[in-house]
Amino acid sequence: MRIKIIGSGITGITTAYYLAKNKHQVTILDERRYPAMATSYANGCQISASNSETWNSWKNIRQALKWLSKKEAPLLISLKPELNKYHWFIKFINSIPEKEINTLETCKMALNSINLYKIIAKEENIKFDMIEKGILHIYKKKSELELARKINKIYKSAGLERWEVNKNEIMNIEPSLSDSNIMGGFYNTTDFTGDIHKFCIELSYILENKYEVIFMKHHANNLIEELNNTDIIIVCAGIGSRKLANSIGDTLPIYPVKGYSITINNPGNNSPWVSLLDDEKKIVTARLGEKRLRIAGTAEFSGYNTDIKWDRVRPLIRWAETNFPNINTEDIKPWAGLRPMTPNMMPIVQQSKKNRKIFYNTGHGHLGWTLSAFTAKKISQLI
Ligand SMILES: Cc1cc2nc3c(=O)[nH]c(=O)nc-3n(C[C@H](O)[C@H](O)[C@H](O)COP(=O)(O)OP(=O)(O)OC[C@H]3O[C@@H](n4cnc5c(N)ncnc54)[C@H](O)[C@@H]3O)c2cc1C
Repeated sequence: MRIKIIGSGITGITTAYYLAKNKHQVTILDERRYPAMATSYANGCQISASNSETWNSWKNIRQALKWLSKKEAPLLISLKPELNKYHWFIKFINSIPEKEINTLETCKMALNSINLYKIIAKEENIKFDMIEKGILHIYKKKSELELARKINKIYKSAGLERWEVNKNEIMNIEPSLSDSNIMGGFYNTTDFTGDIHKFCIELSYILENKYEVIFMKHHANNLIEELNNTDIIIVCAGIGSRKLANSIGDTLPIYPVKGYSITINNPGNNSPWVSLLDDEKKIVTARLGEKRLRIAGTAEFSGYNTDIKWDRVRPLIRWAETNFPNINTEDIKPWAGLRPMTPNMMPIVQQSKKNRKIFYNTGHGHLGWTLSAFTAKKISQLI
């Protein structure tokens, strides 16, 4: 079939891969000049089944309300009136009862994806600064650690092998960490990290040269117009998916949830190699080779803007300097991206209700790097 994919982020690139391997004739459209220049550019780089917990909880709502006027808070909601945002939050609250089942489902998808990425990387010989040292979650509050124990039971039933570690064990796993205030943590060795942008660029090169996929710079406005000379369209447009779906009368509840990252160049010897996740601060780290350390996180509900604000970058630098007192932070590159987030945190992998030639693989929120190999394979099987 002649298949058009809209969007060349991680969801579009992996979808193209499975379809092109099945001998479909694939074209990828993107309004940007190069692949993976939007949210798949400089994220947290974790492929993490251990971050499958959905955010739907009254605790998070209460926390967000407490932080409303704090510019440096890990979770920030702009007070600017916006109808989409209000609808989204109502759905978010309505999804609180599904938290456990959705967390379980996400963890299963993530575990599947981990295997698929390893197969793709091996078969296509993709180098993307992959580091297989597992992911260590750290906790500085007893209440957070107790919550983590509950969530770990769900992960366990999904098949993730992950165990509790005490302060001494944490220091052995990642000796560059400052141990002050650490209560305990959880560790697993199957999750891994790698540069999402490098992966997309390398795979897009293979798609073009080995699988004859065509890349076109083009802004899509209307899905019916795009169907010209095409059997099927798959929308993988991240935060642009909602508007495209509207053009045929479908409603996708995707809201752009902003996050930040800093890339620390030459962080020195006293910086981490094991990937970390600080649940309370909503911050993750990933080592990208000898010379780069990525630190990412925070969530902001403030519409479609990627402006980089110092108030939001500063907490990431401070977090790095607090947890790694001897790290070198002379050379830092900040970035901001928009997570395509659904209210129940589950990706949308389905055929359109309005037009049988149109499919969606989008809405991957905070876990798009982790889940894309799985959802790409799933949508290609559906087609
Ligand atoms: C700070 C931060 C940290 C994160 N850390 C992690 C992590 O550690 N692990 C993890 O699993 N996930 C993480 N994520 C989430 C992950 O990065 C995203 O879920 C993922 O990149 C989304 O990929 P995508 O392909 O859906 O969207 P994108 O990468 O945004 O790609 C969509 C593409 O569609 C194009 N497009 C949109 N509209 C149109 C149109 N009308 N016409 C043509 N082209 C269009 C855009 O130009 C873009 O290239 C993080 C996100 C952020 C912001």
